[in-house]
Parts: sequence; structure tokens; C-alpha cells
Amino acid sequence: MRPFEYLEPETLDEALALLAEDPDDTLVLAGGTSLVILMKQELVRPARVIGLRKLAQLRAIRSGDAGLTIGALATHGSLARASDVNAFSPALAATFAAVATVRIREQATVGGNIVHADPSQDPPVTLLALDATAVAMSKARARRIPFDELFVDVFETSLEPDELLLRVELPALPVGARATYKKFLPNTLDDYATVAVAAVVATDADGRCTHARIALGGAGPVPLRAHDAERSLVGRRLDDRSITEAAALAAAATDPIADLRGSARYKRAMAGVWTERALREIA
Ligand SMILES: Cc1cc2nc3c(=O)[nH]c(=O)nc-3n(C[C@H](O)[C@H](O)[C@H](O)COP(=O)(O)OP(=O)(O)OC[C@H]3O[C@@H](n4cnc5c(N)ncnc54)[C@H](O)[C@@H]3O)c2cc1C
Repeated sequence: MRPFEYLEPETLDEALALLAEDPDDTLVLAGGTSLVILMKQELVRPARVIGLRKLAQLRAIRSGDAGLTIGALATHGSLARASDVNAFSPALAATFAAVATVRIREQATVGGNIVHADPSQDPPVTLLALDATAVAMSKARARRIPFDELFVDVFETSLEPDELLLRVELPALPVGARATYKKFLPNTLDDYATVAVAAVVATDADGRCTHARIALGGAGPVPLRAHDAERSLVGRRLDDRSITEAAALAAAATDPIADLRGSARYKRAMAGVWTERALREIA
């Protein structure tokens, strides 16, 4: 590992100022579960590492009429247990509980997970389906990035090197919405998903769909939305026909990467199967 300078700011302003001094040769460290592996393998070789653990305000989890706000330094474990998260969406709490093992969940943060941008991770899929927005800040500016625009490629987000992810904001769910998260784990329970599906569907008093979001993980270089599948559901009841049509459209929206977890063809087929299961559960 390349020797590096370790800095631990006490305040957010101090952290942003340190990052602004040399953004291209500095990386921030949250839980360290991804970054330390990348540094040991010399896939990244920062001259300076900024530890964020003293920035307690970035751990806050808050809910209100406008929705739910999750601080970037909240760990997956704390989010899985948080009553505010469970009250907002049990599917979101279940998503955090589905990350890795207890050891990783108690150390790794949602912010580190999002910025690491491995397309097989769990939280980005459900956050995308819940219309999440990332709030980022540099010394010079703050900006809001909808999740649809956040993930650029495998291990790449649209965050600039001088920006810190501060929090994720989730709007209140539409009236009558139900959500689910399905992680397909054919190998071991602590694995990354072979494919994963998050679905959020609201229906009116007549049972007709008024809102549909279907997001897929492990199904392309970034977490994806199945827009055609979503559109196909709106105005219809969730029945055998609408569900199988939407599942086929979701599979068609994928662009999976073949790896040890399966061929691209297999993952595409599984994306359809698990979308169908998610929609049947919601129905
Ligand atoms: C054995 C193992 C199993 C795993 N299994 C799963 C799984 O099943 N599902 C899943 O979803 N994930 C899984 N993961 C990934 C894990 O969730 C991520 O490693 C973790 O969430 C990253 O968070 P961290 O706090 O450790 O980030 P770090 O390792 O500290 O940082 C990761 C990256 O994010 C950047 N970063 C961190 N915080 C910020 C911030 N606030 N602003 C800007 N940049 C930031 C860092 O500079 C670095 O580039 C697994 C990881 C391991 C090691």
C-alpha cells in the first residue's frame, strides 16, 4: 500500500476545506470496508485520506411529512434497525438488513456504499425505486443529484472529486403505495445479489396502478430503472397479464455483465423472474 497522510477533521467545513486543497489525490474514508480493500490492492493510491468518523451530524436519520432523510455516515445496521426507516418503508429497512454480514453492516455506511457504486449492491436499488436524491457539497457549492443521474458506470458516480455526499433524501411515498425488495442469492446468504429488484407500486381505490417504480441491481453497469415496465403498469390492475408483461419488459431493460454469478442471459432471465415475484407480492 502506498504510504498516505491520514487526516481527521472535527467539522464539515474543515473536511470540505481539506478536500478542496487537493481533490485529485485525496479520498475520504467512511467505514473503510471498500476503500481499504482497494488501497491494499493498489487499485487506488491516494496521497491523503480524510477520515469522516468525527462528523456525527452525517449519521442522522430523520423523518417528517416531507419524507425521510438519511445521513451519509449512517451504517447499514443502524438503518436496518431505525424505527423511522421501518415506518417509512419496511422494504427499505429490509434492504439494509440484506447487505453482507453483521460485521460489514455495522461498519459500512450508506454513503460509502453509494459512492463505491458497485452495481450489485443493495441499497442503491431500493433508493432508486423510492425516487431518492443525493445531496452533495464541496467547499464552493451544494447540489442535489437525483438518483437517476447519480450512477454513471461501474464504480463511477457523477460526484466530483471535491464533493462529499452529505445525505440522501426520500420524498413521502404516494398514497396507497406498497414496496418490496427482492435479492436473488443462489450461492450464499452473505453474497452480493446475482440480481435484485425493488418495486414500488401505488393503486387507487379501484385497484388501478397510479404510480410504479421498478429498479434492478446486478442487471447492468449501474442500478437501472425499468421505465417501459413501469409505464405498462400505470392505469391497469396488477393481475397475471399486467404482471407478466411488466416482468418481460423489465428483463428486456437489463444489460447484465457476465461474471461468477452467472451469464448475461441467465441474469436477464432472473431479472424477469424476480420482477414478477416482486409484483405478485405487492399485488
Ligand atoms: C465482504 C463484503 C461483502 C459485501 N457485501 C455487500 C452486499 O451484500 N450488499 C451491498 O450492498 N454491499 C456489500 N458490500 C459493500 C459494502 O456495503 C460497502 O463496502 C460499504 O457500504 C461501503 O461503505 P463504507 O462506509 O465502508 O465506505 P468506504 O470503504 O469508507 O468508502 C467507499 C468509497 O466511498 C467514498 N466515500 C465514502 N463516504 C463518502 C462520502 N460521504 N462522500 C463522498 N465519498 C465517500 C470513499 O472515498 C470510497 O471511494 C460488501 C463489502 C464487503 C467488504
